[in-house]
Amino acid sequence: MKKETILVHTGRPKEAGPVNVAVQHASTITFESVAAFEAARRGVYDSRDLYYGLFGTQTALAFEDAVARLEGGHRALALPSGLAAITATFFAFAHSGDHVLVPDSVYGPVREFCDTILQRSGIETTYYDPAAGSGILALIRADTKLIYLESPGSLTFEVQDVPAIARVARERGIVTALDNTWATPLFFSAFDHGVDVSLHAATKYIGGHSDVMSGVAVTTAGVHRAVRQAAGRLGFAAGPDDCFLALRGLRTLAVRLRRHEASGFTLAAWLRAHPQVRTVLHPGLPGAPGHELWKRDFSGAAGLFAFILRGGSDAAARFAEALQLFAIGASWGGYESLVMIARPPRSATTLPYDGASESLVRLSVGLEDPGDLIDDLAQAFQRI
Ligand SMILES: *Cc1c(COP(=O)(O)O)cnc(C)c1O
Repeated sequence: MKKETILVHTGRPKEAGPVNVAVQHASTITFESVAAFEAARRGVYDSRDLYYGLFGTQTALAFEDAVARLEGGHRALALPSGLAAITATFFAFAHSGDHVLVPDSVYGPVREFCDTILQRSGIETTYYDPAAGSGILALIRADTKLIYLESPGSLTFEVQDVPAIARVARERGIVTALDNTWATPLFFSAFDHGVDVSLHAATKYIGGHSDVMSGVAVTTAGVHRAVRQAAGRLGFAAGPDDCFLALRGLRTLAVRLRRHEASGFTLAAWLRAHPQVRTVLHPGLPGAPGHELWKRDFSGAAGLFAFILRGGSDAAARFAEALQLFAIGASWGGYESLVMIARPPRSATTLPYDGASESLVRLSVGLEDPGDLIDDLAQAFQRI
């Protein structure tokens, strides 16, 4: 089956009746016998039987089944946010005295987590150049337990050589976890590229309507239990209403994403030709940074990209505030367009712009008419 068909047909009741799974609110699940209760308790991380609301409900299971099948993973675990999926994964594989490798272009709140809670837990982070590829080998130590990836990177959109890094990690027995939120399971097949854990902020494109916080960790058979155990021990439970909304969003992901992609390309090409724009950071654009890797490994582009505006932060703020159809706000991947003036927290890698005379502007291109969006950008440029 093609992914478009899987999107429609998985995670639904098999019998005739309501088309969609019910929202199942549950903490306690009751059992006929002590033996049945104890069997459920023993199987809590592996079986699909319900045991206690913390470890899932039918609604969560349906969402998990749909995402796991779509991405070709062994199983998936629904979590209360994308960040919860990420932090549970770090704690699943790294313990006090261990070392993790994280790309310098990582999503800001993950860096914050590594620099505070992870560090205080005795886990050391080395930030690596997202362009490292198989050169990651030089950074691996005896105590390295996890190589984290995010491709393309947050705000600056560096595409990583995921298969090269995954190959080196596999040879050394090190687990890899990829933040695949940008591409979604539709545009990047994490498991075909050798990754062990594929992480999604379902808050973004999967939910798609800016009304839900949701995360999902999709895993191979080898690491499934470790992620489930860490999430359970941390007490991370995905709410049934949120799983329902995320699954509802998933149904239309393919059509929405193709539209986001097409409009994103249209706007990126228009921006590239604008005199007030120095560079467009969109891996799908020929000649853009990361384009060759994107062409090799991805089957599409999201509608989220950035550009470097000639002008300092005052000009960028005026530009954002002059926009009528792009709202100012965090997050992305909803049906509506958003703009953000980005200030990436970075250590090693040189930023692709000069923060004094230039600004980084990120756009999440929504489902509006692309011509209307271009008119809006044009009038905002005129104002500055
Ligand atoms: C938003 C985001 C997350 C975190 O998702 P939340 O659901 O907001 O916790 C993780 N990774 C990337 C790339 C994101 O953009």
